Amino acid sequence: MLQKRTFNSPQPKPAPMVSSSATVYCPICTHTVQAEVLSRGRQVWVRPGQKCPRCSASLAPGKVLSLNQAA
Ligand SMILES: [Zn+2]
Repeated sequence: MLQKRTFNSPQPKPAPMVSSSATVYCPICTHTVQAEVLSRGRQVWVRPGQKCPRCSASLAPGKVLSLNQAA
């Protein structure tokens, strides 16, 4: 007996990943610097591979303080 093929119902679209610039706190030199961040929904993280312009440490563990939203 043939089984009816059921197609998966369309999954809810995940929020698109958005790249933007933001103010990031560098824990190494304790300064805030501008960096590129990725955000998806309410999740925001520093784009990997970036270095602090002040101390050239990796900004990956940095804290995103505020997004520079385009007005
Ligand atoms: Zn730094």
